[in-house]
Amino acid sequence: MRHVNAPARAVVDLSVITSNVRQLRAHAPTAELMAVVKADAYGHGLVPSARAAVAGGATWLGTAQMGEAIALRAAGVSGPRILTWLYAPGAPLAQAIQADVDVAVSSASALVEVVAAARLVGRTARVHLKVDTGLGRNGLTPADLGDVLPAALHAQAEGAVALVGVWSHLAFADEPDHPTVRTQHAVFADAVHLVEAAGAALEVRHLANSAATLTSPQVHYDLVRPGIAVYGLSPVPQLGGPEHYGLVPAMTLEAELATVKRVPAGHGVSYAHQYVTTHDTVLGVVPLGYADGIPRHASGTPQRLGGPVRVGERTLGVAGRVCMDQLVVDLGPGASERAGDRVELFGTGLDGGPTAQDWAEAAGTISYEIVTRIGASVPREHV
Ligand code: PLP
Repeated sequence: MRHVNAPARAVVDLSVITSNVRQLRAHAPTAELMAVVKADAYGHGLVPSARAAVAGGATWLGTAQMGEAIALRAAGVSGPRILTWLYAPGAPLAQAIQADVDVAVSSASALVEVVAAARLVGRTARVHLKVDTGLGRNGLTPADLGDVLPAALHAQAEGAVALVGVWSHLAFADEPDHPTVRTQHAVFADAVHLVEAAGAALEVRHLANSAATLTSPQVHYDLVRPGIAVYGLSPVPQLGGPEHYGLVPAMTLEAELATVKRVPAGHGVSYAHQYVTTHDTVLGVVPLGYADGIPRHASGTPQRLGGPVRVGERTLGVAGRVCMDQLVVDLGPGASERAGDRVELFGTGLDGGPTAQDWAEAAGTISYEIVTRIGASVPREHV
């Protein structure tokens, strides 16, 4: 069992999630909005985040894992439609259908399983056909779609399934001018046409993630599926930060300093002494490490400070290697901080403090990985 790391917490401002969803709806005014709450709502807490998104106008919720979709219903989230899309043979499809969860169908064998599960529970399964328009991941290729569609229509005629959606996912949504966006859009339009011409009365056609919601209105269709932007992080940091899109990061990762101590010049800090103090200084130990999801790649050297840490009004950086449960910050020779003082690794950025995007850049990754990896050892505090 993991113990909770008491001197650290991820504070999630649910009202920020609500207002981010409102903003996103304004970016896609003709579409409904599915808040993607997979991976524990990108680390923000599944059920509270989902409720906050619904309060902002999300009429749909999306999860990759079926268990999360079922958990939402079990928690009493009954208003929005829920779609779940990633499952292996033997997944609890019957339970999902019973719980009024829409399911994606990405292969002929998945259709067979869905039909069997629907018959088992005596309910019509609401199905969204997933088309691989060019991401090369999950989904029916256009050729597969042609093969599967007759069986799907047959199952619909029998009442086992209702074909309510056709959908896909973009490979280059964060590069809106990339030709692949146009190609995937064209393949998607053909797939929708094929399914509708065969007689399916679709409720929703959907293609847009956060980046496409913000930058490619031509692919909004009936429903947009933002994830990262719901949590206030920009899916296209090279084009603009969250403030550019009216979004605010919802999660603040903070901790109390575990120890503070004065050291002389030439003091090696953390494993392999990747950082050596150049003058007398004060070191602060933050009780968060890679076991809590802090990327080790955001370690620092005297030449290049690691992931940013806000201490009072100053933004400092990780000194030396991020360890399993702790990291060190060089607080500087005049530091007056004491053990127990609050430090912030990332937050809204509104006060000029560091953000998850800054940590992503320090670690050579994307903000998605920063927030989703904050471990279960770090308690979520919803405010
Ligand atoms: N739709 C699908 C199928 C996804 O897998 C994801 C997440 O990767 C999203 C939408 C949301 O993506 P983003 O967080 O980039 O908005």
